[in-house]
Amino acid sequence: MSIVDNYHLVRSQLPQGTRLVAVSKYHPVEALREVYDAGCRCFGESHVQELQVKRPQLPADIEWHFIGHLQTNKVKYIAPYISMIHAVDTPRLLQEIHKQARRYQREIPCLLELHVAQEATKYGFEPEVCMQFLAEGEWRQWQGARICGIMCMASNVDNESRIEADFEQARTFFLEAKKRFFADDPAFCECSWGMSHDYTLAIRHGSTLVRVGSKIFGERVY
Ligand SMILES: *Cc1c(COP(=O)(O)O)cnc(C)c1O
Repeated sequence: MSIVDNYHLVRSQLPQGTRLVAVSKYHPVEALREVYDAGCRCFGESHVQELQVKRPQLPADIEWHFIGHLQTNKVKYIAPYISMIHAVDTPRLLQEIHKQARRYQREIPCLLELHVAQEATKYGFEPEVCMQFLAEGEWRQWQGARICGIMCMASNVDNESRIEADFEQARTFFLEAKKRFFADDPAFCECSWGMSHDYTLAIRHGSTLVRVGSKIFGERVY
């Protein structure tokens, strides 16, 4: 199967209301262009430097999503154009996004990353910490960083029920946060979960954005 066949296959599996972010990290611009020509306008990258090099070589109507861990001191490079930042995992990063967005008179859509997987990782808010942060409300002053939903990565295991439990935990969190803090805000509507090996499970648990890389582009070339 070609990259374009893979792209069409993944697209065909998504229900209405779930969008595809084609994760193109480590893949050359030629590969992105093939998928672009097949109709894709939404790409995900996880390294600022790589994104900065690739973006000028590709058409301007692409929506670039930043999906990886983002260092606070790098927000300024992508603030002028980034369409969404998926993995906001500290209040400080959210505040910096707000600050940089304002310099460009922008509001940058952001997702809060929840740590729901069983692996210990440095990244992602613990759910109770995230709920507490939302309850404290300081983020309401940071409208340059518009909180549009929740992002997570499921446990990296083969056990499907474990993966589904992680997505369900994130979904429950999203609904609770929606009810408590965003009931009047239609922009809070995104659930970013599902990667190549688990997006079919993610869509059963309310995913509105799947981030699929290797299933489209093949294994990464480093
Ligand atoms: C690389 C990456 C993906 C895509 O992973 P695949 O397994 O290649 O589909 C999704 N989300 C994040 C945060 C990533 O870093």
